[in-house]
Amino acid sequence: MPDRRLLTSLTLARATLDRGAERRDDSEWLAQRWLDESSRVLILRGGSARVIESGSEGAIDLVLVAPSEVTDDGVRLLLGIDDDGVAYLGVLAQSVEGADDSAGAASSTPDLAGIDRWVGLRDVGSELGDRDAGLFVAAAALANWHRTHPRCPRCGVPTEATQGGWSRTCPADSSQHFPRSDPAIIVLVTDSADRALLGRRVDWAPGWFSTLAGFVEAGESAEMTVSREMAEEAGITIDPNTLDYLGSQPWPFPASLMLGYRVRIAAHSPVAVGDGSEIAEVRWFTRDELAAGCASGDIRIPPPISIARRLIEHWYGPALPGAWSRD
Ligand SMILES: [Zn+2]
Repeated sequence: MPDRRLLTSLTLARATLDRGAERRDDSEWLAQRWLDESSRVLILRGGSARVIESGSEGAIDLVLVAPSEVTDDGVRLLLGIDDDGVAYLGVLAQSVEGADDSAGAASSTPDLAGIDRWVGLRDVGSELGDRDAGLFVAAAALANWHRTHPRCPRCGVPTEATQGGWSRTCPADSSQHFPRSDPAIIVLVTDSADRALLGRRVDWAPGWFSTLAGFVEAGESAEMTVSREMAEEAGITIDPNTLDYLGSQPWPFPASLMLGYRVRIAAHSPVAVGDGSEIAEVRWFTRDELAAGCASGDIRIPPPISIARRLIEHWYGPALPGAWSRD
């Protein structure tokens, strides 16, 4: 029987702070927090945040500053409140039009121990602690949304950030608009021999493999999307009675919510074959084949920040070595 336990501690699905949603409309309280030097402020510039090596090996912390140290103008966020009542705030520094939404946009200073540097969430998500991972994910998701939704979709007038950055309001018609998350499914397919089906996208290097994935379309359930995407990308029919939901994590590059599944191919399914337009090739792996490929470097799977890797390792058992790198 497959392991049906939900994936825990997904890299981008960690958070320790109360989001303080009930304070978002309390403009007086928010203003006080911006005057309170015990408040901690995360500054985002072009999607990047400043980090510094923390005391423990290999770990890094976000650089959080006091309100008086903030020199950047931009949308102000309420990101959370800790158990001691300390408010965690954010500033989406106004950046050059068209700046990258996700990773590596800001110029980085040399990576020297003890020296802070500006980095994207994708670069450091798995090295941050739970609190900081949660802060950065929420701030990055909000940053992407504010940057790309400056106007009212009803009347075209520029909107204003409201509710501690968790909505935008139109001054002309008072309509209120909220950050978007686009659901996507990501699926580890197995066969009767318990091999795993992985695919290589057409724009990936030879040897890079991952689970198949796709966006939920308008009017679809996530389950319908799984069936459709596996048919479109790999030409297969899945057995819907074997579909297991394994967990989700936000993927704010720019605005996805990844819903992770595992499913068996149907007994009567056609043979798996890549569609040639999105997926260059698909391949069935035994555990031994995948482990050997990862160990030799002939096969590379996604980095630990992704739910794809967690789905693969959930099927495989222990952690696998190696990962691809986009650098
Ligand atoms: Zn409007």
